Amino acid sequence: TAFNHLLVDQWIKDQINKVGYEKPTPIQSQALPCTLQGRDVIGIAKTGSGKTLSYLIPMLVHILDQRPLEKNEGPIGLVMAPTRELCQQIYNEYKKYAKRYNVNVLPIFGGVNQHQIWKDIKAGRNEIIIATPGRLIDMIRKKAFNLASRCTFLVIDEADQMFNMGFEYQIRSVVGQIRPDRQTLLFSATFKQQTQNLCSDILIDPIKIII
Ligand code: AMP
Repeated sequence: TAFNHLLVDQWIKDQINKVGYEKPTPIQSQALPCTLQGRDVIGIAKTGSGKTLSYLIPMLVHILDQRPLEKNEGPIGLVMAPTRELCQQIYNEYKKYAKRYNVNVLPIFGGVNQHQIWKDIKAGRNEIIIATPGRLIDMIRKKAFNLASRCTFLVIDEADQMFNMGFEYQIRSVVGQIRPDRQTLLFSATFKQQTQNLCSDILIDPIKIII
């Protein structure tokens, strides 16, 4: 069956099959072995390449490895993406895999019920955050959670798009709060100077995959 050689638990593979993916896309077959090993990865790939799964699966495995968890220490995994539409897609994709393990995913982007988010945060349900940079900074300012204690898995999706929208300062400010002993994955459709600079500042010995 598809994805059979991945070193992840059988349920995850079954679930991928159930979703109907017959075989990994090129970014998935190249990135997954690296991301699952804990390496920092730069993925130069467009939306539609299947890049989302190449960070969602290792992030889920990473969370499961950290259990049992203490409550209320802030997220373990953080995904930053430029728009609410993209965040919503990532969130929907994540739910297909996270539910069985009861992994709590907080959506921090426009159009989401704020009341529910605060309730979840107060209850310590915040293992993963999927966020646009502006909203995320806003929540950090309100001291909703801290990224300094246990966040060890960071994904920056569509980095070039976030730069185009003027989010460089926000991205750097958020990353500056996260522990250096983290795994960092960065995806971008292009690899211009600004993205290259960010990569050399925040990733450690990354594997670069160009699709
Ligand atoms: P992404 O580039 O991650 O936004 O994914 C683009 C689309 O491809 C999404 O609708 C996914 O559900 C779908 N997709 C992801 N991985 C695969 C795969 N291995 N086979 C077929 N479709 C996939």
